[in-house]
Amino acid sequence: MAKDFLKDVKDEYDVIVIGSGLAGLTSANVLAKAGHSVLLLEHHYQLGGLATWFKRKNGHIFDISLHGFPVGMIKSCRKYWSKEIADSIVPLKGIRFENPQFSIKTTFTREDFTNHLIEKFKIDPKTIEDFFATARKMNFFDDQGMTNRELFEKFFPGRDDVVRFLMEPITYANGSTLDDPAITYGIVFSNFMHKGVYTFQGGTDKLISMMKGELDKNGVDYRIRSLVEKIEISDDKKVTGVVVNGRRIGCKTIVSNSNIKSTILNLVGEEHFDADFVEDTKAIRLNNSSCQVYIGIKPGEKIDYCGDLLFHSEHNGFDSDAMLSMKVSSRTFSFYYPSTRPGSDRYVVVSSTNANYEDWASLSEEEYEAAKKDLCETTLDCLEQYVPGIREKVDHIEASTPCTFKHYTRHLKGSSFGTKFEGLKVSKELPEKIGGLFHAGSVGIIMSGWLGALNYGVIVSNDVDKYLTPFPVNA
Ligand SMILES: Cc1cc2nc3c(=O)[nH]c(=O)nc-3n(C[C@H](O)[C@H](O)[C@H](O)COP(=O)(O)OP(=O)(O)OC[C@H]3O[C@@H](n4cnc5c(N)ncnc54)[C@H](O)[C@@H]3O)c2cc1C
Repeated sequence: MAKDFLKDVKDEYDVIVIGSGLAGLTSANVLAKAGHSVLLLEHHYQLGGLATWFKRKNGHIFDISLHGFPVGMIKSCRKYWSKEIADSIVPLKGIRFENPQFSIKTTFTREDFTNHLIEKFKIDPKTIEDFFATARKMNFFDDQGMTNRELFEKFFPGRDDVVRFLMEPITYANGSTLDDPAITYGIVFSNFMHKGVYTFQGGTDKLISMMKGELDKNGVDYRIRSLVEKIEISDDKKVTGVVVNGRRIGCKTIVSNSNIKSTILNLVGEEHFDADFVEDTKAIRLNNSSCQVYIGIKPGEKIDYCGDLLFHSEHNGFDSDAMLSMKVSSRTFSFYYPSTRPGSDRYVVVSSTNANYEDWASLSEEEYEAAKKDLCETTLDCLEQYVPGIREKVDHIEASTPCTFKHYTRHLKGSSFGTKFEGLKVSKELPEKIGGLFHAGSVGIIMSGWLGALNYGVIVSNDVDKYLTPFPVNA
């Protein structure tokens, strides 16, 4: 008989969280700590959403999205998760750029970037100071009219090399282009420039296992392999429950960590919203997706230190379309040394490239397999220049594509970083349209990535708490 993943689930909860990405997990934890009964439903076989990993024979563990996040993650994890989780967050020191325009090693801090901009790119220190001040001052309430292109043109006219240095890592990190609003760049860039790039020591598996421990402690009822098919709405436009694995469960509020468009158009249904809101939802542009190549080094074999994050490109100049092309000319290599997982002796390399879903989804089965094989081969060819003799050292290699991301996260078009900026407005307006329905998850570029998604989960939980407890007992 098939296993019932909803065994012993109650008939009614204060909150149902749909999806266990970092926003969903954090919402569930914060709301349970605030005293609400919480059910967290995840369709995949493990929690974490894109914050995930997989294992292969011979003891290889591959992290999918653990490449780097800003220092703010320490404070957020300490405050909304635990000191132990925050204490495992450590800096990455070796960030490299290798492209036809420059070869640079950096700690990815404001001080180091300033030095490179002065010494290598010969930019006037006052201009750099003004640029950093402008980027740092940008906030969510600012005018969104200025684009990244205009921002760079204002400070560094005609300097494609400087644009590449400042923009390429952020494009890799969240799919931003020169045509996106400058505030999306300013906020993310300033977050990183504060103190550099950080990682979670022990790997994503350890992080999610520690988070599960907190969910247990705080009484969250969480279930995997539980696909929410429908959000139920009453005649007076309030949420009343969900249908999951064919069963109805009642609730007062829902936090959907599913993609904002799927939440509104598929899980609720457009008939429950006014025409303008449906139009705004349909107009939301999804962010791009990714391909990755996972390379496990033979047990006992080593690779010399060649940086933690390496932004490699053969393309002449910064070009976000070229970065998305199936004819790959840019790759970000993440090197995981044994120190990533203390106690392990393993070396792993993960190569990431931005990618368009349509390019991969339109292939026949044979073409798809051939394209994945080609991606693995060209990645090894490229890696050879940084790790000589790599082919002799490889024990395991495989690739993922936008179709893989879609399969595991149910994100439309396998979108890795949620939606473009307009998704944030729709996400924030959702509770005004349907009572008790909230969305928390990667939207608007600034609410995406590990830190953005986690923080958005907190912001939305505060709104849910206010909805459930409009007059606090101690007020
Ligand atoms: C290749 C790659 C590399 C990345 N690298 C970095 C990085 O280095 N640093 C960084 O900060 N960020 C990185 N990111 C981005 C970051 O991982 C994500 O922005 C963040 O983890 C997303 O969290 P989220 O809360 O929005 O939800 P997601 O992680 O998208 O999770 C949503 C969850 O909801 C579940 N779900 C959806 N619909 C349903 C349903 N109907 N029923 C039940 N469950 C459902 C999905 O299965 C999924 O588990 C990367 C992303 C990718 C793809």
